[in-house]
Amino acid sequence: MDLMYRSTRNDKNRVTASQAVLKGLAEDGGLFVPEQIPRLELSPEALAQMTYQETAYAVMKQYLTDYTEQELKDCIRSAYDEKFDTEEIAPLHEAGGAYYLELFHGATIAFKDMALSILPYLMTTAARKNHEDKEIVILTATSGDTGKAALAGFADVPGTKILVFYPKNGVSAVQEKQMVTQKGANTCVIGIHGNFDDAQTGVKQLFGDAALGEALAKAGYRFSSANSINIGRLVPQIVYYVYAYGRLLKSGAIQAGERINVVVPTGNFGNILAAYYAKCMGLPIGRLICASNENKVLYDFFRTGVYDRNREFILTSSPSMDILISSNLERLIYRMAGDDAKENARLMAELSAKGSYTVSEAMKTAMQDFTGGFATMEEVAAEIARLYSETGYVLDTHTAVASRVYHVYREQSGDRTPAVIASTASPYKFARSVMEAIDPKYAGMDDFALIDELSRISGTKVPRAIEEIRSAEVLHDKVIDKTQMEAAVKEFLGIR
Ligand SMILES: *Cc1c(COP(=O)(O)O)cnc(C)c1O
Repeated sequence: MDLMYRSTRNDKNRVTASQAVLKGLAEDGGLFVPEQIPRLELSPEALAQMTYQETAYAVMKQYLTDYTEQELKDCIRSAYDEKFDTEEIAPLHEAGGAYYLELFHGATIAFKDMALSILPYLMTTAARKNHEDKEIVILTATSGDTGKAALAGFADVPGTKILVFYPKNGVSAVQEKQMVTQKGANTCVIGIHGNFDDAQTGVKQLFGDAALGEALAKAGYRFSSANSINIGRLVPQIVYYVYAYGRLLKSGAIQAGERINVVVPTGNFGNILAAYYAKCMGLPIGRLICASNENKVLYDFFRTGVYDRNREFILTSSPSMDILISSNLERLIYRMAGDDAKENARLMAELSAKGSYTVSEAMKTAMQDFTGGFATMEEVAAEIARLYSETGYVLDTHTAVASRVYHVYREQSGDRTPAVIASTASPYKFARSVMEAIDPKYAGMDDFALIDELSRISGTKVPRAIEEIRSAEVLHDKVIDKTQMEAAVKEFLGIR
């Protein structure tokens, strides 16, 4: 029997996996969740021997049950190939007493590639399976990394168009250059005057706009999402936690059944939710440590049970985590409420009306697998400098948030469980913040000089993704007000 998905806001909205991938977001504004989380059907002995692609198939087939074996294997093979600069796809690197799970070896050197290199294949396969005759328009809000990874994945994919909105002053120089130089006749990149939450809220409104949906359908289009609200992003992200466990078994760092802790630098709560799903599947994960930057809305939430976005939005050195509305938290809330769509819908309505909600004591207790922590920009810079001086290993600013939070947790709790830290971006993507953290003398150097210097001091090769943008031409230079997003969509699609 197929595993079905239902909306977190209305139990009656049930769809297959491929339909959930195609839709992205449910019509009622909810997120699709599997009706049950499947159990991992793998022995530790088998897992220890499996490649990334084999692990991906073993995990994904349990969630995407209406895809055939051939379809799923084709998607996996097309996604996890030479676009990655290592055969391991997601290598583990031990440094300073923790295991850094490097999720940045794909085409755009951030962890978004792990899911976005497969999503276009999952989506076009889903369109075929469901006899979808409309062209798919991927509408995406980005805090910097999703945009480029989605553009790279969907550029020139037949039957799709992609439009990305990013906060004009809220991304790093490299992130912006990567996006605005994107090639592909079906791509469009637009800056907005506003922050990531403005972009994300705008995109969600466009999804929910029935009149716009009708106009689109008339013109032969339908929207879908490449944001982590799409289950087709969440499922591929479960894979690397299972894979990391296998690598630790293989190297002898842990014994079969031994627990690990997982530490994730968090923004939209997608990556850590995938780790939680892996735990629910039976992977021996102890604590899920949720690391925030100064936009510490999640840290406060896990401590108090109150989610409150009414606060100043802070631009930090880890821009991909500059988020106050963590969309994927809704999937956890739904589960903690006992899969109660009504209760979840009530809380989400409060969030959109008042900007805050409070969960019950029972729900708060149910979330005890999670520990929140946060790090300030100064602490992040100090962490980068510390690990570099002690081990020579260079972290990006996002991973450094997690690394700092982990070491504080370890110190305070005495918990010596082996820890896997999700390493979400290459330091090259945030070279300025990284280099200035290592030595203030780098302040004032130009971006590409810093990149070459980073290569020299770390003894690593400048990634292809960076070489590509050195001399690339800017192809997208439009910047609009956040109120003009609908008009921009219509213009791009030629709809009046
Ligand atoms: C997107 C991103 C994050 C946050 O991931 P979520 O799934 O949104 O919590 C962290 N670090 C980097 C580098 C990212 O690109």
